[in-house]
Amino acid sequence: MSNGIHLIFLGAPGAGKGTQAHVIAEQYQAAHVSTGDILRQAAREGTEMGLKAKTFMDSGHLVPDEVIIGLIRERLTHADFPKNWIMDGFPRTLAQAQALDQLLAEIGQDLTAVLNIDVPLDLLMDRLTLRRTCRKTGKIFNLKFNPPEDPSLYDLYQRDDDTPEAVEKRLKVYQEQTQPLIAYYDKTGKLADIQGDLEVTQVTEAIQEVVNQRNR
Ligand code: AMP
Repeated sequence: MSNGIHLIFLGAPGAGKGTQAHVIAEQYQAAHVSTGDILRQAAREGTEMGLKAKTFMDSGHLVPDEVIIGLIRERLTHADFPKNWIMDGFPRTLAQAQALDQLLAEIGQDLTAVLNIDVPLDLLMDRLTLRRTCRKTGKIFNLKFNPPEDPSLYDLYQRDDDTPEAVEKRLKVYQEQTQPLIAYYDKTGKLADIQGDLEVTQVTEAIQEVVNQRNR
């Protein structure tokens, strides 16, 4: 029997990791751990870590590995941490992936699957610059591809790092530092490629299929 559903969502900025993780977490009663959300929240609260992280984030750079690994360790080793979880936006470097492997070995957990949400590069720019997030619910919209039916129901904002300059840098950082993780997880047999340029619900269905198959 499996000891829980443990998923990593890989993919470029704008691939739909956050959108999908939000839905899948609800369906499987899983914790949705978004390192980006944790850092943005810390920045809003004005903590020392949050303010330091914000300078990296707003310019499209990665926050240093030790900060991120510390955040994840704190959560995964917490006694009340849910049995099922989704990592959205972590790991993003080889050092982070290795640290996660070590941490999972320590706490005796296995990965269920690594979902690589694949979207052609030329679509990502539009997706990111037109992205809006709801402050209250965390739900993610796109003004062109996935607009809210009634915007007055949401408290929408644009992320500070969804400017064209920061987006360009983030895509480059993704290619250099995060894309190598696809090969890393392919070797472990955990990788599943998901076509990400379909309707949101179609992408969700493809993810569910993989999760159900791997969680037997
Ligand atoms: P995201 O919301 O996942 O797009 O993350 C927004 C920003 O937060 C990134 O561009 C990074 O500056 C920072 N960040 C989030 N997750 C990580 C991570 N795993 N490693 C390093 N930086 C991260």
